[in-house]
Amino acid sequence: MSTLPSHARTVVIGGGVIGCSIAYHLAREGRTDIVVLERSKLTSGTTWHAAGLVRRLRPSATLTKLINYSIDLYGELERETGQATGWTQTGSLTLATNPGRLTNIKRQVSLGRAFGLEAEVVDGARAKELWPLIETDDVIGAVWSPADGRVNPSDVALALSKGARARGVQIFEDTAVTGLQKKAGRISGVEVGDHVIEADEVVIACGLWSREVAAMAGAHMPLYACEHFYILTKPLAEVQALGKGAHLPTLNDQDAFLYARDDVEGLLVGCFEPHAKGLPLDSLPKDFSFDLLAEDWDHFMPMMENALRRIPALEQAEVRMLLNGPESFTLDSQFMLGESPEVPGLFLMGGMNSTGIALAGGAGKAMAEWIIAGEPTMELNEADIRRFSPEMNVLGALKARIPEVLGRHYDNPFPGRSMDTARGQRRSPIHAGLVAAGARFESRGGWERAVHFGGEAAHLPLSFGVPAWRDQVAAEVEACRSGAAILDQSAFGKIMVQGPDACDFLNHLCAAQMDIAEGRIAYTQILNTRGGVESDLTVQRHGLDTYLLIVGAGEVVRDLKRMRETRGDFRVECTDVTSGYAIIGLAGAKAREVLQATSNTPVPELKRFHFAPVEIGLARGWAGRLSFTGEEGYELYIPSDMAMAAYEALVEAGASHAGLYASGSLRIESGFRAFGHELTPGTTPPEAGLCAFCAFGTSFVGEAALKDHVSKRQIVSLLFDDPDAIPIHDEPIYFDGKVVGQITSAAWSYRFDRSVALAMLTSLPEGLKDGDVISGFEVEIACTRYSARISRKPAKEAFQ
Ligand SMILES: Cc1cc2nc3c(=O)[nH]c(=O)nc-3n(C[C@H](O)[C@H](O)[C@H](O)COP(=O)(O)OP(=O)(O)OC[C@H]3O[C@@H](n4cnc5c(N)ncnc54)[C@H](O)[C@@H]3O)c2cc1C
Repeated sequence: MSTLPSHARTVVIGGGVIGCSIAYHLAREGRTDIVVLERSKLTSGTTWHAAGLVRRLRPSATLTKLINYSIDLYGELERETGQATGWTQTGSLTLATNPGRLTNIKRQVSLGRAFGLEAEVVDGARAKELWPLIETDDVIGAVWSPADGRVNPSDVALALSKGARARGVQIFEDTAVTGLQKKAGRISGVEVGDHVIEADEVVIACGLWSREVAAMAGAHMPLYACEHFYILTKPLAEVQALGKGAHLPTLNDQDAFLYARDDVEGLLVGCFEPHAKGLPLDSLPKDFSFDLLAEDWDHFMPMMENALRRIPALEQAEVRMLLNGPESFTLDSQFMLGESPEVPGLFLMGGMNSTGIALAGGAGKAMAEWIIAGEPTMELNEADIRRFSPEMNVLGALKARIPEVLGRHYDNPFPGRSMDTARGQRRSPIHAGLVAAGARFESRGGWERAVHFGGEAAHLPLSFGVPAWRDQVAAEVEACRSGAAILDQSAFGKIMVQGPDACDFLNHLCAAQMDIAEGRIAYTQILNTRGGVESDLTVQRHGLDTYLLIVGAGEVVRDLKRMRETRGDFRVECTDVTSGYAIIGLAGAKAREVLQATSNTPVPELKRFHFAPVEIGLARGWAGRLSFTGEEGYELYIPSDMAMAAYEALVEAGASHAGLYASGSLRIESGFRAFGHELTPGTTPPEAGLCAFCAFGTSFVGEAALKDHVSKRQIVSLLFDDPDAIPIHDEPIYFDGKVVGQITSAAWSYRFDRSVALAMLTSLPEGLKDGDVISGFEVEIACTRYSARISRKPAKEAFQ
């Protein structure tokens, strides 16, 4: 074996399927001088015992794209490397035994069509033909996806490592990284005992050990392991009867928490049980390698009973083993990748949520491209590690939440569904008041967010149809228009930018003109060099050298990272002051009257997008004349310790309450774009209709890319004709029988008594002008098409 080098361009830590894929793709992209360090042997962590299932139909375009690439790659790798991956296209069959599940799987079929994937809705009889061993008396429908399949996970990792070696990657087994080194805050090398390998970039792909390895450099990687189970049986006559070489499709019976496939003439039956077992890392031996966890039949028994009901032939089966292996999960059940926000040059990928084999090819390529380009080369927002703040890496929160994440893997993703565990981590300064007012909260990014009022009774039961809260939210929407409604926006990120170069710096960072008068507010975007939107924010000028940025909830980590990268020689300090202030939206025609009633001093006459100091009861803060709803009103900014005093004064003066569902409905009617929905790193201001907010000529980041930018894509408002259409997100839009776009945000419109949406169209009909309304569009929701019209104007102006 060759000796460890003392320098490498890139060191990849971890020789599981993820580390092997990143190394392979880095080399394939032309990067040289790459070293992979594996503590034990390749695949010895989680990869070797995975079930190897690969499903193409996923809830988002990004995931589907990554997995499609994986499948293509796994099909080709043998030709390239001589190492088979075991890719077998068996198809998959997903059962529904209740109407909610049937809607959900039909929704996935519709989404799949938007990405060019064909899947078929079938009945119980056809399901039984496809999987003859199952009982189908309770099956009310199923989806047959012929393009799905399976691989042999170890072989995939070995083929990738072989391909990497052939391109010059050096792989060292039995080589544990024991420390990480930094110089001036940037990663500079890895320690293997006394030996140091200096490196320009380090990649952590250590599976469930990643969080601890990242901590060696002071980086956050919020993931936590759970025990994950499947049984393997000895050969079964019913499987052997299929014939030599024949396979069953993968079976997904999510209502029973099960998946199954044939395995060496027997069966493999696994589960995502509703009450999963978390796995503290310190309970694993230090030399855990090709190891498994203890069998736990008491835990698996309820799943076994479900399996026996679905596959009666299992009664006769001899169980070879109950395999229990560790796998790591994240707080929002999406994997993570990207450059550490805390440590430049340190790249992180993990928390694969039991889809690491399926994702490895595509996500490994995306990670490699990101490392080389210095920024994502494709839409990766939902997996971007910058969505996690350090607060989300608190071990107590992970330990409490992660078993629930595994337990809900097969839940129906009804709108309004929220996690029950790790609640109350981040509470608004006016939280107690909202509780007393009957708020129903959802947990978002660690924050408790009031989504509507009226409590549980207005929330349950959850469904894909008309939500239980529709009437309650109607009253809140009305209050936001004609009354004075409190909308708690305290979770919004707040970043103070100070220093002699604050104005110049922000003019470079942000697309709009930042040299505004003190007391003014600018609406703007931060762009990447490709002209894509990285953040959507408002900026207040408090002094010659002092600005306050109000950014999206959960965007602070991302924005601060970009600010650090953009700062260069500008003399500025950027400070996260999110926890220091509450933001109370006060929306509606009576907002000024109510605000005045709280105060002994006159409320200043404010023009739009101006702010000024105000007194609110016993509290002092400042009011900005703008709103997230598009209705008349203010945003009130109050130091956290006085926020309850202000809140109480507002309630005393007659303010009512509204939640996120009400503000979401009004936002969409007003045509306001939101980051993560209409605005993403792959969407430019011209596509989003935001050119009016770009100060061309000020050399802002991304300006050059916009100059040559030609795109037919466009955000539009969309109104359904049929009140029965209940879209959620991502639904495909058809025109002339062809997919022409997707929904980006949707809500019930109380103005039109129908669903309203914003949508990204890939091309607009020729000659469409701003005021035009065009009919003839159809949106497919759960395999049913609903007619709709579109306009470039906000819905509330276009569709009167
Ligand atoms: C029972 C079960 C069934 C599954 N079924 C599927 C499936 O059907 N489909 C699917 O897509 N996914 C499935 N998964 C998930 C999949 O197996 C994982 O997501 C994937 O293997 C994770 O790969 P990884 O490379 O991130 O982690 P690992 O395979 O664990 O690799 C990490 C490597 O890092 C090494 N390492 C750790 N610390 C250090 C250090 N300090 N220095 C050097 N090296 C270090 C470890 O030794 C290990 O080899 C399943 C998981 C389980 C448990």
